Amino acid sequence: GVRTRFAPSPTGYMHVGNLRTALYTWLIARHAGGKFILRIEDTDQERLVEGATAVIYNTLRKCGLNWDEGPDIGGPVGPYIQTERRGLYGKYAHLLVERGHAYYCFCEKTESEEESGQFDRAADPCRTLSLEEAKARIAAGESYVIRQKIPSEGQTTFSDVVFGDITVDNDTLDDQVLIKSDGLPTYNFANVIDDHLMGITHVVRGSEYLSSAPKYNLLYEAFGWTVPTYIHCSPVMRDQHNKMSKRKGDPSYEDLLAMGFLSEAVVNYVTLLGWSPKGENSEREFFTLNELAEVFDIAGISKSPAIFDLEKLKYFNANYLRALSPEAFYEGAEPYLKQAVKTPGIDLKLIAPLVQPRCDTWLDIAPQVDFFDALPEYSNELYCHKKMKTNEENSKEALEQVLPVLEGLDAWTFDAIHDALIGLAQRLELKNGRIMWPVRTALSGKAVTPGGAVELCHILGKEEALRRIRLGIE
Ligand code: GLU
Repeated sequence: GVRTRFAPSPTGYMHVGNLRTALYTWLIARHAGGKFILRIEDTDQERLVEGATAVIYNTLRKCGLNWDEGPDIGGPVGPYIQTERRGLYGKYAHLLVERGHAYYCFCEKTESEEESGQFDRAADPCRTLSLEEAKARIAAGESYVIRQKIPSEGQTTFSDVVFGDITVDNDTLDDQVLIKSDGLPTYNFANVIDDHLMGITHVVRGSEYLSSAPKYNLLYEAFGWTVPTYIHCSPVMRDQHNKMSKRKGDPSYEDLLAMGFLSEAVVNYVTLLGWSPKGENSEREFFTLNELAEVFDIAGISKSPAIFDLEKLKYFNANYLRALSPEAFYEGAEPYLKQAVKTPGIDLKLIAPLVQPRCDTWLDIAPQVDFFDALPEYSNELYCHKKMKTNEENSKEALEQVLPVLEGLDAWTFDAIHDALIGLAQRLELKNGRIMWPVRTALSGKAVTPGGAVELCHILGKEEALRRIRLGIE
């Protein structure tokens, strides 16, 4: 069966590109009814960031990407944290040495190698050292690394589902280190061994690993192991020329949640960055995670880099927010409402449905509702509305009329307020707007509000509503 793995290195935030890799990896497994495995690749101790593993767990959980095997739940081919597997890589490297596909190297790292990451194998005397000699030096206590012995001649071809067949000249590949002098595997070596030992059938990763793939292939061949299906994904870009980058201020998954986006909308949008549905779904934009699992196909993954567009994400998010049930919307909105409206006695449950159709993100709530707490500086210009035929003078006259009518109301219900105001307009033979507009602006100090005059009166409560109307007449 299909077995895929998400193999993050806990080196920081969950970038949008990482999230997309996780999504595709999960979707391929779920679509095929296979297994999705979580493996933490922490061999590069210097790059580890405290708390990064927790971010990975949280992100996957919040997105609904459940795993079948992983560090926390175990599984048949554990452990699932690379540093806990440190003991098992050495024997594979030694096996390669015995077979002539790797060699012990005693050279100090040169400065140019440190800088470029390239190792000049032609200049390496260890490559041609006999195994006996090498073993003698090891026995004498010399420090060594184990390097992959790339064939000096010929070419290596590998297949990628997205990028097709890629052929490289072997002399462009370096004799990469497999086991470091401290005995720990390099990332590239551990990755191959683990994918094999864990029975991974599909490797989904960023295209930055494409250039390493030939060396991976040579390792699989040297062991006589089946090469997994490679699915390299193009980067997610911030613009035409640049990858998204935390350093340049591009948001991570957690940032997006903090910016008021719904996880479901992020998941939907990010999946479509670099994958598109085919056939009857080719025009469709909105998918739940389970719907994606149903329709996801590897063939829909695009080779061209996708540009992350915050406006497009807002469009997705707005649709998700509007589609929430009133209860679900209130649950999500409550913390934002609470922060914006602190006046006791104001029923936030009455405000929520008014803002639901008017937000792209949760953060759009506060600026629309803060007037419930404190009336903004009032400008008489607000009374002037061409279409309503209101101006400062007739608005204040209207409010003078409204005041006693509302004062006389016993039951402060929506219907009672509504009937009172409409009744007043009828008595005065005025269009409703001539009454409603002055009331609304006097209550809010704003030209645009969620909800109209009646809702605002109702929510503010009798005392505060009347106080604001009196203020509006002054
Ligand atoms: N640990 C690698 C990363 O976080 C994953 C590479 C792979 O999936 O093979 O980028």
